[in-house]
Amino acid sequence: MTPRHRLIVGNWKMHKTIPEARDFVKQLAGLLPKSPPAHVTIVIAPPFTALAAVSTAIKSLPIGLSAQDMHWEDLGAFTGEVSPLMLKDLSCRYVIVGHSERRRDSGETDVMVNKKTAAALRHGLRPILCIGETWDQRTSSQTEQVLSAQLTAALAGIEKDQAGAVVIAYEPVWAIGSGHPATAQQAHDAHRHIRAKVTALWGQDAGDRLMILYGGSVTPDNIGELLASREINGALVGGACLDPLQFAKMLSIAGSAT
Ligand code: PEP
Repeated sequence: MTPRHRLIVGNWKMHKTIPEARDFVKQLAGLLPKSPPAHVTIVIAPPFTALAAVSTAIKSLPIGLSAQDMHWEDLGAFTGEVSPLMLKDLSCRYVIVGHSERRRDSGETDVMVNKKTAAALRHGLRPILCIGETWDQRTSSQTEQVLSAQLTAALAGIEKDQAGAVVIAYEPVWAIGSGHPATAQQAHDAHRHIRAKVTALWGQDAGDRLMILYGGSVTPDNIGELLASREINGALVGGACLDPLQFAKMLSIAGSAT
């Protein structure tokens, strides 16, 4: 049986200086197998300040580069922002959009997330679109409704022919950085709902092919169980990806997950 494709993304958030970033890549390179399994795509998302250094450091490695955010405009009077063209300059292939920390701390709205998603696709960047419910929403049985609303808003106006480039990350807000991941069943159910919604929007083929990552307190101890679900195509990892040893362990488990 051909192994299913996996996408494992490490989101460094606001961690690592340039020397620390270089050191991470060096250590990770030493931990990867000589011929890493082709069905596992490895992506790291350093902070903006380390993107250039990491881009150079991973040049001959099977590791892709992601930014953690971007503006939707190509250029202009947007102090402190970074544009899709600037990310392309650094050979970024992915960009995280709509992370709950940005929605919470930087006032990022569904409309902004939609503009970012569309801009990423326009520039050939793969958006890793984060959606997820809060604990209050889960306990008041609103999870599916919230996921549907976030998806509908973020994907508004995006054509079906761009579906293949979109990656969705299901990140329950209550599971992020809490040490309390969703159970494999909770994640499976949410992913199934997301896939059904995308299938309704873009058709069966797009739904079947959609890469949906789970994010929220993923560690080497739970990634295997999460990836065992046929609905879960990979992981977006925060805290546990900062240590090269832990990250390499998760990559290895992803490579052997069936
Ligand atoms: C994240 O913020 O994308 C994330 C999944 O964080 P953590 O793994 O630390 O919960």
